[in-house]
Amino acid sequence: MRISVIGQGYVGTTMGVVLANAGHNVTGLDIDKKKIDALSKGELYFYEPGLEEMLQQQIKNRRISFTTNARKAVENSDTLFIAVGTPSHDNGNADLTYIKQAARMIGSFMNKEKLIVVKSTVPIGTTEKVKQWIASENQGDSTGKVVMNPEFLREGSALQDALYPDRIVIGSHCEEAAETLRKIYQSWSCPMLTTTPKAAEMIKYASNAFLATKISFINEMAKLCDTLGVDIHDVSKGIGLDERIGPHFLEAGLGYGGSCFPKDVKELLWTADANHNPLRILKEVESINHAQPRYLLDKLKNSLTTLKGKRVAVLGLAFKPHTDDTRESVAFPIIRQLLDEEAGVAVHDPVVHLSKDWLDKCVKQYGDPYRTVAGTDAVVICTNWPQYAELDWAKIREIVRQPLIFDGRNMLKAEQIQSLNFHYEGIGYP
Ligand code: NAD
Repeated sequence: MRISVIGQGYVGTTMGVVLANAGHNVTGLDIDKKKIDALSKGELYFYEPGLEEMLQQQIKNRRISFTTNARKAVENSDTLFIAVGTPSHDNGNADLTYIKQAARMIGSFMNKEKLIVVKSTVPIGTTEKVKQWIASENQGDSTGKVVMNPEFLREGSALQDALYPDRIVIGSHCEEAAETLRKIYQSWSCPMLTTTPKAAEMIKYASNAFLATKISFINEMAKLCDTLGVDIHDVSKGIGLDERIGPHFLEAGLGYGGSCFPKDVKELLWTADANHNPLRILKEVESINHAQPRYLLDKLKNSLTTLKGKRVAVLGLAFKPHTDDTRESVAFPIIRQLLDEEAGVAVHDPVVHLSKDWLDKCVKQYGDPYRTVAGTDAVVICTNWPQYAELDWAKIREIVRQPLIFDGRNMLKAEQIQSLNFHYEGIGYP
């Protein structure tokens, strides 16, 4: 099948590569020439384990190519996947500018009947609008068949998630269109669920809302554990063994970030309010999550009395390990607060480089974690990169000014760290 993928971000690039790997002939389209130039050379412009190798393999096999030429991408394909961004407006409602542009562009170049697959996460009812936007630009009779096919991959394990998803959801009113998409996915072996487009849109938002709820739930429990002197690890393990609950997303810490959970929770809250059906649980989930960085900073301030003039090391800038994505990463509100309270800040991340804006604000970034922590009054862990657990903490004990560790991801072994005479605090981890 000849497939074009519109939008070569985290989702579009990953989907294009795995569709090529499944034997399809893929064209990746983006408006950003720099991204297209890099991908054409087999260079992944973002960090995602394993993806670059498969990209290069598929370029070599001539199964994938990249272009900024929209006409070519539309005309030379039978199926078009839309994987452009859907960021938030200030009020939380999803901004559909890019989806609308992509749909109109498809409409203006559509030369025959095609299948249009909406991969982007879009508010309930948008798939129907995509059809109308395509039709509004199309001179001929063909509007194409539009189906909703939400994506559930996670950055950091995107390739594995896209190759081996838990399920594929196909939202379509047209059985023929759904069947074409099932054929495209015929080499995938997971359950496939066919629903209406609106249900497929809702499944994506409800999935992310539920996972965000699990995270805020365990963070609430962790704070109570702090007060009662109970280890949240025991609690997470104990409740996670219940099949009805499951072990995932029960790690207490600084809360969720990234390009999806925060914006998708906001959008669902906006839609619920607009439909006079407010989601009270989800409002609390969002406010609990928002308060998590403050909770760790209060612990830090209790220990240091004042942040003014203190030097603090922040380990981890990515919103989670194995990605270079910093969208809605909790590290940044933490750094901002430290600077506001006149602390000096040194940061480290294995793959993220601070922008000039942050460096101009006198944040120092080092390529070496030991240099980052040297001479500091406290170490704050924001991202659970596995390499931080492997650091020589005995050596770090020798080079810090004060032996204080605030582990926002509960990733270090408290007993081991305390045995090195550190004052160690996690979240719900006495
Ligand atoms: P992204 O911001 O990384 O990439 C979007 C790309 O679309 C950009 O490269 C941009 O230049 C391109 N683009 C915008 N308008 C275009 C147009 N008219 N024609 C061609 N290209 C255009 O976004 P992402 O993280 O890949 O997310 C894409 C969608 O998938 C969003 O709706 C997101 O919510 C959803 N999603 C993301 C993830 C994730 O982990 N990132 C997971 C599941 C679903």
